Amino acid sequence: MSNPYSWLNKSLETIHRAKWHRSVKTIAGTPGAVVELAGQPVVNFASNDYLGLAGDRQLIEAAIAATETYGTGSTGSRLLSGHKPLHRELEAAIAVWKQTEDALVFSSGYLANLGTVSALVGQRDLILGDQYNHSSLKKGAILSGATAMDYLHNDLADLRGKLINHRSLYRRCLITTDSIFSMDGDLCPLPELLAIAKKFECMLLVDEAHATGVMGKTGAGCVEHFSCTGQALVQIGTLSKALGSLGGYVAGSAELIDFLRNRAATWIYTTALSPADTAAALKGVAIAQQEPKRRRKLWHNINYLKKQLSHLELELLPSASPILCLNLDSPEAALNLAQKLLSSGIFAPAVRPPTVPTSRLRLSLMATHEQQHLDKLLESL
Ligand SMILES: *Cc1c(COP(=O)(O)O)cnc(C)c1O
Repeated sequence: MSNPYSWLNKSLETIHRAKWHRSVKTIAGTPGAVVELAGQPVVNFASNDYLGLAGDRQLIEAAIAATETYGTGSTGSRLLSGHKPLHRELEAAIAVWKQTEDALVFSSGYLANLGTVSALVGQRDLILGDQYNHSSLKKGAILSGATAMDYLHNDLADLRGKLINHRSLYRRCLITTDSIFSMDGDLCPLPELLAIAKKFECMLLVDEAHATGVMGKTGAGCVEHFSCTGQALVQIGTLSKALGSLGGYVAGSAELIDFLRNRAATWIYTTALSPADTAAALKGVAIAQQEPKRRRKLWHNINYLKKQLSHLELELLPSASPILCLNLDSPEAALNLAQKLLSSGIFAPAVRPPTVPTSRLRLSLMATHEQQHLDKLLESL
């Protein structure tokens, strides 16, 4: 008799042989520009905490106060017993910031994408997604049962061609895109995508996970950055990156949000976001707007590092965000560089195929990086 689990070991061997095996690294202490990795202090270029809010006293105190008032768990789904005043406050604050009629908070950005995509389209429908979209959009497309096609990265001609060939064969059509692409740091051409969506009668979903708090005058994201506020859009994002907490959201029309409350399975059948996470996110949303100096510092850091990197003989991938990638010839070269940087106290991960098409060192910047941190990185490079 064969062991029905023996394939696990074989699969792991294959993963190891391909050098694709990953494991977790333990980070100690509070989030910040310098963290402790395996007992060694390192300058952190691997965090999504763009505004430095995840370790901020104000968020910590908001989370403690909410825990004292409401306890640790929210005890039920939103539609049953889990809905707290804090959830509605957070949704109202997001809607005001994004200038949409309403918003809905999910337990993570991943769940927001899965639930929204699979609620908006079904078997008679078409999804056209950018080939570099986040995993949650791709898995949401599979879950929806719609016909899913990728278009070439930011390639409007390819998208238009696919719509001309296929749009009329389907009932509804949803175009999906990250607004800042998470592994490259470039932006989607949002105004052009909106025009195409309108022309071909498509819904457009934009994932602002890396852009919320970072892009636009008030930090509302790429929609604000491109002056597309108020347009018909499904805006998704996370509370877990620049906002320093945990959770995801959808912002859009009152009809969209009411529909999702009735049809998004990843919202209906899961426990409401915890009081601590909700309160921390609410504080994060307020600070992201009230303290624009954080965003100014972040952009100062981005512009400084980009300028200095251009003097080194390294290939910087096109970026308009805090995510800066140095292109490298091979997975080994990327791993080597990451390892060398680590031994000089710099934490910047190598990202390799199959996650991305070409190997690279991925740097993400924060408002909490000081000049000395950036100079240490440049010196080491
Ligand atoms: C991080 C990320 C998500 C998932 O958000 P979580 O809140 O971490 O689940 C979704 N989309 C994109 C583009 C992301 O970068």
